[in-house]
Amino acid sequence: MSSAAAVTAAPERSSIDPKYTWNLSTIFPDWDAWDEGFRALDEGITRYAAHEGTLAQGGEQLLRVYRDGDTLGQLAYRVYYYAMLQHDEDQRNNEINARKQRVSLLLSRWQQSTAWFNPELLQLPVDQVRRWMDELPDLALYRFAIEELFRQQAHVLDRAGERLLSLSGPTGSTASEAYSALSTADARFPTVTLTTGERVQVSYGQYRRLLSTCRAQEDRRAAYEALYDTYGASLNTYATLYNGVMQQEWFTARARGFSSTLEAALFGNAIPPAVVETLIAEGRAGSAPFRRYHALRKRVLGVEHYHVYDSLVPLVASHEQYDYDTVQSWIVDAMAPLGAEYQARVRQAFEQRWIDVFENQGKRSGAYSAPVYGAQPYILMNYNATLDAVFTTAHELGHSMHTLLAHESQPFVYSDYTIFVAEVPSTLAESLLLDYMLAHARSREERVGLLEHAIDNIVGTFYNQVIFADFELEAHRMVERDEPITADALSALYARTAQAYWGDILGPDERMPRTWARIPHLFQSPYYVYQYATCFASTARLMRDIGGADPVVRTAAVDRYLSLLRAGGSDHPMRLLQRAGVDLSQPDTVRAVVTQLDALVTQLEAEVA
Ligand SMILES: [Zn+2]
Repeated sequence: MSSAAAVTAAPERSSIDPKYTWNLSTIFPDWDAWDEGFRALDEGITRYAAHEGTLAQGGEQLLRVYRDGDTLGQLAYRVYYYAMLQHDEDQRNNEINARKQRVSLLLSRWQQSTAWFNPELLQLPVDQVRRWMDELPDLALYRFAIEELFRQQAHVLDRAGERLLSLSGPTGSTASEAYSALSTADARFPTVTLTTGERVQVSYGQYRRLLSTCRAQEDRRAAYEALYDTYGASLNTYATLYNGVMQQEWFTARARGFSSTLEAALFGNAIPPAVVETLIAEGRAGSAPFRRYHALRKRVLGVEHYHVYDSLVPLVASHEQYDYDTVQSWIVDAMAPLGAEYQARVRQAFEQRWIDVFENQGKRSGAYSAPVYGAQPYILMNYNATLDAVFTTAHELGHSMHTLLAHESQPFVYSDYTIFVAEVPSTLAESLLLDYMLAHARSREERVGLLEHAIDNIVGTFYNQVIFADFELEAHRMVERDEPITADALSALYARTAQAYWGDILGPDERMPRTWARIPHLFQSPYYVYQYATCFASTARLMRDIGGADPVVRTAAVDRYLSLLRAGGSDHPMRLLQRAGVDLSQPDTVRAVVTQLDALVTQLEAEVA
């Protein structure tokens, strides 16, 4: 029996005040208009395919093909999201589901009909293409995109080589797919009985819930042991799969002429490997406030031995409810450091119904910001009046403002930003809201709740991710050094890595070293998690100036920051951040998070003293 299925049911959508629902009519006024858009896109795709084989005709033709592609791309955004967003309003609606599936099919046809473009452009001598760009200012707009394509070329093989690699493609993903099957479909999660008498089957979702709500340590331990024993039962298989994932990366990296898996993984965004190395070195060196926080938790929770499963339960149980209408004005006020114009845009998001606020029957869970080029960003929320929901609102608005400013400042080709910068505006918005709410907190309980929320955010998004990135990098290096990869070797590495951050805070625990087996990102998106941490570091560095005391520094920092948002994807993410004053290759940038955490832990220590 699982208690996850709530007894209170969500309302039907029709009973929700329309002012709390999004207004999609800026995308298309109605389904008839959408049908017309769909048809236009369908025909456009056929026309576009006819450009194949024409690029060598000259710069004018190349420009024409780029522009045609842009027009279709913009239309595709609107056609896709109009169906997608309505599907998420109520996923039970079969008619809309059918339309959504039609769009997906059309978009895969769009992909197929553009597949010739890059290889054909790369057949042309780069000097000739550069001459065309010099002669035609309109074509020069595409310079960064074109140069990127040729840069990536450095690690593309000849025809025979590429053919061989593409043939190996399906076998390459088998290990990560097997991980997914083993850890979800085939996993047998045991049921535990809590001290309250409640019986719970400990899937990963339930595990997270129990760790963050159970006040009794033995209940948290029961959940933890149940989940970790599930992984423990197949630990040798997990190790073999992880070896498979890493061997595949090492194979591809070497085949493409990279000296390491890290170099291969970072090449796409032109990130220097030193960024990850600096992140890890500074994360290790800056673990003191992380330890102090856990030491404080240990004391407040009053446990004899502190364990990883004690790190999520709130120190003070909060029953505070946050009324959405009030929160709107807080968020607008909190953005004051970014200027009146920015605040006006945020107000516009609330007033012009960009946000679908409350849960209803059939609505998609979670939260996201959807970039709809040619219309506006939209936000899906399931606002439930908790502190988490308040910060999620600010977070998604951060993404939406990024989208808005990038879309209105950039041509379509550069309107999209990379993951490497994406979480900067969202976490910066949260950071500003935290400062505002701390300054206006009415009680000690509220301040403690806010500080804990902020600290847990840094611990979860920065420190825990750096630990994973640290483990991941060393595990890959073991593969690159031809060292054997076994369950024991991986667990020993994990234990060593964790110890470098946790120190001697943790009590004896034979299960903790197998944590690596339960992190899907390690198996499914290698070298991904470090980006959570680098985004967080970038935000901390920006906040040091934006939230600082010197008005001159502040104004300059805000200008640089807004330029970063406006820049979209018009350059490599490292360069964009550098222009905003954030250099991730410098230790100082990472230290900004450490300093931030240190200050927050000091405040929390004072509140709970
Ligand atoms: Zn986000």
